[in-house]
Amino acid sequence: MMQTPLTMTQMITRAEKYFAKKHVVSRTSSGIHRFTYKEIAKRTRRLAHSLEKLGIKKGDRVGTLAWNHHRHLEAYFAIPCSGAVLHTINIRLSPQHIAFIIHHAEDQVLLIDADLIPLIENCQSQLSTVKAYIIMTDDDKLPETSLTPVYHYERLLEEASEEYEFCEDIDENDPAGMCYTSATTGNPKGVVYSHRGIVLHSMALGLADSTALSEKDIAMPVVPMFHVNAWGLPFAATWFGTTLVLPGPYFTPKILAQLIESERVTVTAGVPTIWLGLLKELEKKSYNMSSLRGILCGGAAAPKGMIKAFEKKHNIPFMHAYGMTETSPLAVISTLKSYQEEQSEEERFDLKAKQGILVPCLEMKVIGKNGEVQWNGIEMGELAIRGPWIASEYFKDECTNKAFRDGWLYTGDVVTVDEEGFLKIVDRTKDLIKSGGEWISSVDIENVLMAYETVFEAAVVAVPHEKWQERPVACVVLKDEFKGKVTKEELYEFLSPQFAKWWLPDDIIFMDEIPKTSVGKFLKRTLRDELQSYLQKN
Ligand code: AMP
Repeated sequence: MMQTPLTMTQMITRAEKYFAKKHVVSRTSSGIHRFTYKEIAKRTRRLAHSLEKLGIKKGDRVGTLAWNHHRHLEAYFAIPCSGAVLHTINIRLSPQHIAFIIHHAEDQVLLIDADLIPLIENCQSQLSTVKAYIIMTDDDKLPETSLTPVYHYERLLEEASEEYEFCEDIDENDPAGMCYTSATTGNPKGVVYSHRGIVLHSMALGLADSTALSEKDIAMPVVPMFHVNAWGLPFAATWFGTTLVLPGPYFTPKILAQLIESERVTVTAGVPTIWLGLLKELEKKSYNMSSLRGILCGGAAAPKGMIKAFEKKHNIPFMHAYGMTETSPLAVISTLKSYQEEQSEEERFDLKAKQGILVPCLEMKVIGKNGEVQWNGIEMGELAIRGPWIASEYFKDECTNKAFRDGWLYTGDVVTVDEEGFLKIVDRTKDLIKSGGEWISSVDIENVLMAYETVFEAAVVAVPHEKWQERPVACVVLKDEFKGKVTKEELYEFLSPQFAKWWLPDDIIFMDEIPKTSVGKFLKRTLRDELQSYLQKN
């Protein structure tokens, strides 16, 4: 067979040739804008040309600090297709971490949304590698800024050529993108994506038993384009000619519901907290959600109660998936097999609440106390994965040897596997609760609590215990209408029949909000610290 290289230039040029009339809908601070893929491709060529004029060479890193919108999409292709490396920077990291990763990646140019300029102004003195700042804005004029030298994105595009030829000298194994993990401990770790990895991962998003993304879809990635490439959806959607809806900055559940309704979105993707928010909005007001064929949810466990509410109350199919920055991210997806569709409703929801089976091309093993675990849904072990879109190292980081061993990525996630090969994430290794030498899954208790009708969010963490080493404590946020009306006893009554006695939390604490990471996951480290001081005081 021929060895034609799998590079990203073929993705954008395919959209340009075959889907010239299809649209990208982009919400920016000034409203909704519509572009055809033909226009996007021309603008992408202009941006690639501008970067070359600014001195960007093959292999250089170009950073982006931006929301989900058309200019960010252009950068998604212009940077790798000019041979450089797209470094998407998580805008919700701490200022120290932002400065750290820009410096560590040695970014040469930064593309920044106008409203995010202060994030960079604050640490400009530490950014010795950055040679130019490009501001992405709808305004004709550049905003006041201390950044220098600074360029206006649209002015640069006007001065560049739409006929610009993308770099031809790209090997499929060349780096195309990079993203740092949202570290819960230490500094963020960089993951570099190759052209080949991105192409094959995009292909996997199109498989019928995966997300089945196709030309007929209208896809709205809510997951930020600064978090694992918005799960690769912008790449795949462009390649397939899928209509893209990019929800822009500072969206609310109401804005998302309105976009789904007005743009007739068929598939959307985000973390569970986004969908809990949308569910709340749908309970307040009725919207026409009939276009949706699927909500793709990952990044943290999707509670069964939430899946049920979407599917049963709102008739919206739910796709639960698992992955991580290191896995591009799609690795596992909960698509039921034909004979599983015939099981009882409860059994089906139980399966959908699991993360699912490995997508084609990937391999896994699950290592427990005594080697590989049995596929019995009970034995727990750490998940290790390998495959063509799984990272093989961290970028210039000594943590590499801990996570990447013998050709496998050790995920740090503890899982069980049932007889059908369905994975269930039991916990992060560091979040499991070790009580009297036995493991308690915080995720299991959280999911049951979140299935209770009065509960909005629940996070369970370990607190130190003299006799048992660790015991679980549950932190619960009630839905607004139930605040002050629900007792701990009521919640214990709901939990008790569902768990062994020793799994029940030692305490249930009501909170106004659960601290979250930069990508909307429960921040258990902070919660553990907050609980320590709360328990000492009380
Ligand atoms: P990140 O690299 O920020 O995307 O985080 C990856 C981590 O999120 C994984 O290692 C898991 O711990 C967690 N995660 C991702 N998807 C799921 C899921 N569907 N259920 C439970 N945990 C998940």
